[in-house]
Amino acid sequence: MNIHEYQGKDLLRQYGVSVPKGHVAFSIAEAVEAAKKLGSDVVVVKAQIHAGGRGKAGGVKVAKNLDEVRTYAEDLLGKKLVTHQTGPEGKEVKRLLIEEGCDIQKEYYIGFVVDRATSKVVLMASSEGGMEIEEVAARTPEKIYKEYIDPVVGLAPFQARRIAFKMNIPKKSVNEAVKFMLGLYKVFVEKDCSIAEINPLVLTGDGSVMALDAKLNFDSNALFRHPELLEYRDLDEEDPKEIEASKYDLSYISLDGNIGCMVNGAGLAMATMDIIKYYGGQPANFLDVGGGATAEKVAEAFKIILSDPKVKGIFVNIFGGIMKCDIIATGVVEAAKQVGLSVPLVVRLEGTNVELGKQILQESGLNIIAANSMAEGAEKIVSLVG
Ligand code: ADP
Ligand code: MG
Repeated sequence: MNIHEYQGKDLLRQYGVSVPKGHVAFSIAEAVEAAKKLGSDVVVVKAQIHAGGRGKAGGVKVAKNLDEVRTYAEDLLGKKLVTHQTGPEGKEVKRLLIEEGCDIQKEYYIGFVVDRATSKVVLMASSEGGMEIEEVAARTPEKIYKEYIDPVVGLAPFQARRIAFKMNIPKKSVNEAVKFMLGLYKVFVEKDCSIAEINPLVLTGDGSVMALDAKLNFDSNALFRHPELLEYRDLDEEDPKEIEASKYDLSYISLDGNIGCMVNGAGLAMATMDIIKYYGGQPANFLDVGGGATAEKVAEAFKIILSDPKVKGIFVNIFGGIMKCDIIATGVVEAAKQVGLSVPLVVRLEGTNVELGKQILQESGLNIIAANSMAEGAEKIVSLVG
């Protein structure tokens, strides 16, 4: 789960990690009010969307007085901001962070992520902050320093100090940088983050260190033990189809293609997307209906696929083990009856209760194209979608 920058900064503040003073604003009036409350000469108006690259896209504005705050708030609120992370459709700005202007002397990068190769949290840092860190990693990987963290010991102060020296943080600010890293690590672990990225971490004119940006991402599988984090969830930032799917406990991820997929099991779902691509098609989604799904749940899954206007054909690929083929068939027929089926549907069923499943589909009167193998099914749906 993603959260907004201002929410991330609230969390950092709770852990004593240094961030500028700021307030969220949902309207122009609130933006001006927030700037008054800050009372600083320079105020920064920052678009709050779940995407980075806002600075380059005009989503971060420096205001020197309240009139400018008003003008920038007017410009940004309700605007679709297109950054390199939003896709061409952009994201509508509905919230602003009104923040103290910071006297930046130097921008750095610092981030914690889970490294799958070593099964450890890794601290990554660079003196090349502020810009796209992906570029730095691609062009000058030697400028990114790493410390792998022992899960039992945690981030050791000497590791943080070593990174601070490599980043070239001035000596008098090293202790503060170390404290910053230890605090951020504590947030990462206690809140079950999957990413905690500060870009830029800044050194200010008076030598202090603080987070000017904050990108926190949480492991959704751990959210059950963080009700306080769920309050940060912003449904406006999520795909409505994914929200609907999460209500039914379905693993659904929306993609760009036009072939809807309904599959049981994450592995088979991945393989189904692969084989669709192999035959030249593009999957519209990843969907794993899971093992213990009921016919109602299958019907909801099918409706979610049908509600996507991009979908020009559907491929149901089921290997019935715990999930029985007749349950899938009943769910599909139920959903098709309720919302209508206007696109071609290819079904490949195998496994437990397969004969019963096929019979239910046949007797439904729906126009279903049967496939005897995964490859045949993929080939058929790709050619039908054209
Ligand atoms: P994004 O990563 O989405 O572009 P950032 O929050 O990193 O957004 O802001 C982009 C740039 O704007 C920063 O690198 C920094 O130079 C500047 N900036 C952001 N917040 C402030 C602030 N409070 N004071 C001064 N400059 C800021
Ligand atoms: Mg940034």
